[in-house]
Amino acid sequence: MCYCCGIPLPGNVLAIHGTCSQCRTLGKPFDFARAYGNYRGELRSLIIKFKFGHHQRLSHPLAALLQHCYERSGLDLEPDWIVPVPPHVRRRRERGFDQTLILSRALSQRLKIPVFKDLYRVKPTVPQSGLNLQERRKNLGHAFRLSQADRLSDQTLVLVDDVMTTGTTISEICRLIRLETRIRTILVLTVARVPLWSAQV
Ligand SMILES: [Zn+2]
Repeated sequence: MCYCCGIPLPGNVLAIHGTCSQCRTLGKPFDFARAYGNYRGELRSLIIKFKFGHHQRLSHPLAALLQHCYERSGLDLEPDWIVPVPPHVRRRRERGFDQTLILSRALSQRLKIPVFKDLYRVKPTVPQSGLNLQERRKNLGHAFRLSQADRLSDQTLVLVDDVMTTGTTISEICRLIRLETRIRTILVLTVARVPLWSAQV
C-alpha cells in the first residue's frame, strides 16, 4: 500500500516509489491514512447498522477493528489525541447520537489516548453523496471550526471516522488543523475506505 494514504499499490510501483502518484505529486494534508478494510460486504453492513440502525453497542467491535488496523500499521507514532470527525448537526439530530464520537470514545478506552472534542462543524452542508469532487470541496469550504487549537501544538493526532469516501471532508479538517496550529503528525484512521474506482478520484 501507499505509505502515505494507504491505498493498495502494485508491487513494482511500491518497490520504486513507496507512495502513490497522487501523494507524490500533489501531497496530502495528513501524514498517513489507514483503513481496516474496503467499504463492502460484511464490513459495510456492520457500519450501516451502527450509523443508521441505532446499534450504538457496535462501537466496541468497530473500535476493536480500528485498534487492530492501528497496531498492524507498524507506524511508531505515540499519538497524543484522538480527534473525531464531527458529523453534520442535522444528521446527528436525525440519528440521535454522534456515531464518530462514540466510536472515538471506544477507541480511546482501548488505546488509552484522550479524545479531543473542540473540533466543530459550523455550517450546515448539504449531504456530500451525489456531488462530484469539485462540488464536495465547495460544499465543505469553511465548514469546520477549531477551538483551543494551541492544545494541539506539536502533538500527534489520530483523526477518526467510520468511512473514508473521497477524503475531501478529512482533507478539509487536516488543512484547518495545519493552518491553526503547528501540528506534528496526523494519522487518519477509518474503519473502511470506499475503493478509489467507486469514489470518482
Ligand atoms: Zn498515496
